[in-house]
Amino acid sequence: MRQSHLLLPTMKENPADADVISHRLMLRAGLIRQLASGLYTWLPLGLRVLRKIEAIIREELQASGAQEVLMPVVQPAELWQESGRWEKMGAEMLRMQDRHERDFCLGPTHEEVITDLFRREIQSYRQLPVNYFQIQTKFRDERRPRFGVMRAREFTMKDGYSFHTDQASFDATYQAMFDCYGRILQRMALDFRPVEADTGNIGGANSHEFHVLASSGEDTIVYASAGDYAANLEKAEAAKPGPAPAPCNNLVKVPTPGVKTITQLCDQLSISAQQTVKTLVVAGENGLTAIILRGDHELNEVKAAKLPGVVAPLQFAKDIDITQAMGAHPGFLGPVNCPIPLYVDREAAALADFCCGANEDGLHFTGVNWSRDCALEDSQIVDVRNVVEGDPAPGGAGTLKFLRGIEVGHIFQLGTTYSKAMDVSVLDQDGRNITPMMGCYGMGVTHLVAAVIEQNHDEHGIAWPVPLAPYHLHLLALNYHKSNLVKTAADKMYNAALELGIEVLLDDRDERPGVKFADADLIGLPHRIVIGERGLKNDVVEYKQRLDKAPQEVPIDQVLSLLT
Ligand code: ATP
Ligand code: MG
Repeated sequence: MRQSHLLLPTMKENPADADVISHRLMLRAGLIRQLASGLYTWLPLGLRVLRKIEAIIREELQASGAQEVLMPVVQPAELWQESGRWEKMGAEMLRMQDRHERDFCLGPTHEEVITDLFRREIQSYRQLPVNYFQIQTKFRDERRPRFGVMRAREFTMKDGYSFHTDQASFDATYQAMFDCYGRILQRMALDFRPVEADTGNIGGANSHEFHVLASSGEDTIVYASAGDYAANLEKAEAAKPGPAPAPCNNLVKVPTPGVKTITQLCDQLSISAQQTVKTLVVAGENGLTAIILRGDHELNEVKAAKLPGVVAPLQFAKDIDITQAMGAHPGFLGPVNCPIPLYVDREAAALADFCCGANEDGLHFTGVNWSRDCALEDSQIVDVRNVVEGDPAPGGAGTLKFLRGIEVGHIFQLGTTYSKAMDVSVLDQDGRNITPMMGCYGMGVTHLVAAVIEQNHDEHGIAWPVPLAPYHLHLLALNYHKSNLVKTAADKMYNAALELGIEVLLDDRDERPGVKFADADLIGLPHRIVIGERGLKNDVVEYKQRLDKAPQEVPIDQVLSLLT
């Protein structure tokens, strides 16, 4: 490709509204342009990368036995009403009506459509297992579109779905997809981790997320310093502490006027947050429910939403309702004489002589002890906090450590959730109707482009790994428009590269050498050859790989052999 003809609008300066490196570089290197919030146009260079990623995904999935289909982006409401998700999806789903005033949505995902296809086409256990995938546009009206294509509203996903009548086949396909995801990400030269993920209320099911490690990642992933435990923060289990020590202090009510936060409380009483508990109030099925955490810990909302009697997804109570139910304002709440049902995190339940709000404005208790001042049933003591770095790992293998990750894939044994809701059945060996189990396997294709850049760049620009590079060779012809010698040599080498099947980009623009060098670093093709008049007089050109410090001089007739 001749760069003079290519829509490749590079930018020298960092765009003001791009906070993460991949977003900045994708704009600066002319891969994408924003149309509206969360909506991007892919320019030729970016699209080539996207297509290469798709090709790798397609190849590996087909080799793993999955079949490609393509389902519509626009989906009828009836299917979503059947599964119960028309209501549940809320504002993330973009809805519309056709000319007959029938309801439709832009597909945020395709479980309903594939389940409908399956129930129409597959009747017998003999036809199973099946595993279908597509590479298709999704639309999700995300609350906060940001970081460019990392959290977009329109994006490309590879989504796959398998159906089974027996657990062994279900597990085998799940494992095949797990392995396939690993191969796909390895082929892209990414540093990644599969981690255990939450399965909502589906008991016994498997779910893993695949995270590309990057400091800009939106997710926290947790792993054990020894052993191979790894999970996302939502799922990561806090190890069980020992029992609470015996009480030493008496229960004392102390004035704490104006205290709103744990920090203020600790300052006023000169204690550490580890000696306090905090009380959060959420909606329960029958009124409000209190959740007690150690003062320095954070609530895990996914764990909390799964507690019996707590409303899912989690809803925090309004201050006015809290004050009415508890008789005190937030800041002065606590478990002693608590008028509403309460859950206590295991680590808070392991405290002795701690401090908490007295459920009276302006007052706290110190010297609180559970068994003496506020007896708990075992069922009230739960794991409901986010783990923190340094916690003992579950199973006792080392301590927990954190990494930031970009979630690029998610595989999930959904079980019979959708098949049941949508009344799907197949005939078993004995001619009886059985409900098939379903697995789903997602991969963020556009997301991967950003993830690759996060892991492959330096201060000058992108450094594409060879399998994903939009072109492999950047041929910089210096003074192409002024020097006939350069023009002739560059055209000749460009044609020779094309003939050798090398994907080549010829910078034949009428630009200063400095601009060409800067753009070459920014765009980040793996190999760079510079053709200039001075070298040509000695029949040499300069060759450099993207991350090499300095170029080397290579005889002009030998240089292409370095690439083949
Ligand atoms: P999250 O919790 O981050 O919103 P999700 O659970 O909604 O993720 P899935 O439905 O499992 O994500 O989607 C599969 C993959 O699609 C994700 O792993 C991610 O790479 C990608 N993806 C999801 N939402 C977006 C988005 N808004 N923009 C770009 N890619 C996305
Ligand atoms: Mg989401």
